[in-house]
Amino acid sequence: MCCKLLPVRELAKPAGAWCQHCEPGTGCRIYPERPQACRDFFCGWMLNGEVAAHWRPRESRMVLNFQATLKRTVVHVDPSRPDAWRKPPYHAELQVVATRMAEAGGYVLIACGVNHTIMLARQEFKLERMVPSDKIVISRRPGPAGPVYSIKLVPDEADMQAAADSAAQL
Ligand code: SF4
Repeated sequence: MCCKLLPVRELAKPAGAWCQHCEPGTGCRIYPERPQACRDFFCGWMLNGEVAAHWRPRESRMVLNFQATLKRTVVHVDPSRPDAWRKPPYHAELQVVATRMAEAGGYVLIACGVNHTIMLARQEFKLERMVPSDKIVISRRPGPAGPVYSIKLVPDEADMQAAADSAAQL
């Protein structure tokens, strides 16, 4: 599932589409020469023995990606099952994780193809036109009924430079 759900920048492979090098049911045809992004990625379900069996990507249609340095858990959802994360028991479990992460200054990011949603405690925020390289900046301030969040997307500087360079060449 990770070879379908995750984007791979080196291959210009978008999220939610099978990699051209993947042989479903068999594996990677270019495994010894696979890109660095593929070498660096480890499925959260396989990494963490405490994650319940029903999160196995083949059944859940989701791939977990724990990104501790970014204080977030990314849930990559199969676009052919876009509501997988909203179904029981997944949604309630994600709310528990999102609440715990929000208390520690983090969040849960639901990524389904080009659609992204942030879960912060029990609140959900849809992100418009987000690309994988965008940086997510979340600010919190106290409100009468709990924290009030505001979310901003900051484009990657390298991407902006590349876009400016290609525009200059036209
Ligand atoms: S290059 Fe191989 S490991 Fe990487 S996404 Fe494609 S099939 Fe998967």
